[in-house]
Amino acid sequence: MTELLLKYFREQQKQVETERIYNTQCPYCSMQCKMQLVEQTHVKRKTYKTIGRDNPTSQGRLCIKGMNAHQHPLHKDRIQYPLLKVNGEFVKISWREALDYIKEHVTEIQEKNGADALGVYGSASITNEEAYLLGKFARVALKTKYIDYNGRLCMSAAASAASKTFGMDRGFTNSLQEIPFTECIMLAGTNIAECQPTIMPYFEKAKENGAFIIAIDPRETGTTKIADLHLKLKPGSDAALANGILKVIIEENYLDEQFLQERVNGFEEVMQYVASLEFSFIEEITGVPLEKMYQAARMFGQRETGMIFTARGVEQQTDGSAAVQNFLNILLSVGKIGEPRCGYGAITGQGNGQGAREHGQKADQLPGYRSIENHEHRMYIADVWNIEEKDLPRKGVSAYEMIEKIHDGEIKGLFLVCSNPTVSNPNANFVKKAFEKLEFLVVADMFESETAKLANLILPASSYLEDEGTMTNVEGRVTLREASFPRRGEIKHDWEILCEIAKVLGKEEYFSFSSAEEIFNELRIASKGGIADYSGITYERLRAEKGILWPCRSLTDKGTERLFETRFAHSDGKAMMVPVSNQAIVPKAKITKKYPLYLTTGRVVSHYLTGVQTRKSASLSARNFESFMEIHPSTAKKYEISNQELVQIESSYGRIVVRSKFSEGIRPDTVFVPFHWADSQNVNNLVSEKLDPACKMPGFKVSAVNISPSVKRSSY
Ligand code: SF4
Repeated sequence: MTELLLKYFREQQKQVETERIYNTQCPYCSMQCKMQLVEQTHVKRKTYKTIGRDNPTSQGRLCIKGMNAHQHPLHKDRIQYPLLKVNGEFVKISWREALDYIKEHVTEIQEKNGADALGVYGSASITNEEAYLLGKFARVALKTKYIDYNGRLCMSAAASAASKTFGMDRGFTNSLQEIPFTECIMLAGTNIAECQPTIMPYFEKAKENGAFIIAIDPRETGTTKIADLHLKLKPGSDAALANGILKVIIEENYLDEQFLQERVNGFEEVMQYVASLEFSFIEEITGVPLEKMYQAARMFGQRETGMIFTARGVEQQTDGSAAVQNFLNILLSVGKIGEPRCGYGAITGQGNGQGAREHGQKADQLPGYRSIENHEHRMYIADVWNIEEKDLPRKGVSAYEMIEKIHDGEIKGLFLVCSNPTVSNPNANFVKKAFEKLEFLVVADMFESETAKLANLILPASSYLEDEGTMTNVEGRVTLREASFPRRGEIKHDWEILCEIAKVLGKEEYFSFSSAEEIFNELRIASKGGIADYSGITYERLRAEKGILWPCRSLTDKGTERLFETRFAHSDGKAMMVPVSNQAIVPKAKITKKYPLYLTTGRVVSHYLTGVQTRKSASLSARNFESFMEIHPSTAKKYEISNQELVQIESSYGRIVVRSKFSEGIRPDTVFVPFHWADSQNVNNLVSEKLDPACKMPGFKVSAVNISPSVKRSSY
């Protein structure tokens, strides 16, 4: 058989007439694996395959998503021309007509209702250049304060926690290269095995080297399998669990007294608060046996080196920011940061989850992680943009709050780039109704996503194969994504689209860019002196050095592999600890008689975000063509649900129907549903609109639901 296959492949190879290779980076997760698209022209057809390329982060590896990432940009459904909705149907129009349409509606809406009647909704999947330009576009071309992006639903809790604790937010405080050599690892609310698969070998290597791995998750996953200790907590109890671990650390004195004294503020208050808590209460809230909390604290406290990683499991809650702060309290209490093999990592979800949050897409932010409410910061950016400081809008509101303003009629028109908010936001039924109220919705995308279907105008946007630019990966390493695959039809890059719209709005002088590199060079100046300082990074250096970790403040600065070695980024150089309550200020869903089960959500390895791209890939789609509900068999029995049966899941916000999937590895009081599907399988129809008051992150990870077989069985 093997001989036959080899013969077949050799024959195929003989028929290859030409071969072209396109260098690029995977469009999906924050590992940003370098890859190559290999295009082979055979006698009668072309074939494509994607292979990994060596680089310091993924070291040539690709996961199943990356290997099939060429399937969606080459898909026949790619939008190739501007499409205008006429009588409910999209019709092809020219770019000239599209731009005139935009000019007419922008002018009309803003003249009637003011500049803030338009909003901008961005993405953490676009390049740094495009994220930067989108922020500038909103504030300079549209003069609106309303801009936010889908990263709000992803990284805002970790970003807010790191900013409060360390004084700055770069997802990883160390490069990945240190992970294999650390002695204890805490993985809190992260399923890297499915979400960032090519990072796994770093942790596997650490295990081989003797590291003790603690996983915190309500379910057994590919990631918890590598753990020595699995704390299977109740959804939503992460902050309390961290208090339990801290209490043991303090009681058994694993504290780094000198570090706390010299480099940290606030420890006394944390100690007093934690001392006032009862272990029995923490045990009850978390469902984690006390001896397991002791074991985790002892291992993390006793080992010389250690690292903590958090992800959406901890962060996507109405106290996500505080919960992450509490894990950082653990790290600081034992002094495991700022030294080799010690540190923190927020494992970013989206491809440019890091860079997209640094350069001005957030409602309250200007490039370089500057604040839009800080006078000096405003003056600096106004100067770079050549506008008056008084003309720079003030801070707007978060992504979901923008949608509420759309629903209330305050925002009447929206520019949406590379995002699918009617599926990805909580309370998705409400979100869809809000979008249906918009007078003017322009969407730049590759496909007719569920949200794009609601647009007045869709603009054809380029893909990762075609659009060159920089991306900042999970480590904070700025990388240059090469892209030279020819564009089909009249597809344009997002940055070109923004420049052309700005031009018809009379703002050409601020947007006269002819390449991504030119935009990056302005971004470098705009970020100079800010927390996320990219000023020393150039395309030339990125090509030669295979990525640079920011801050990088001059052309001779090598970048910063490890943060906080001598000081934290607060003005006094110290980190800040604060007591974190066991309970969120905004109450989380509680299980009741009517809704007796916890629902938690997450990802599967073969899909990305709302699945608009991965559902177009035949290979990925075939692996998971529909959603499912993971349930413990004992719970299923109680609700008379069989394996692989259609099940109705209902919360006070809506209902969905998905297929059951038995798993002994999930808590019996919890069900899990992935979030990659839309319509009747969209789990966000069940999720509450309540937001974390600190960072406006929705509480995706905890809902209360009821379940029942979808089809009532007849009794004979
Ligand atoms: Fe790499 Fe992530 Fe793409 Fe997989 S999805 S190939 S881990 S960037």
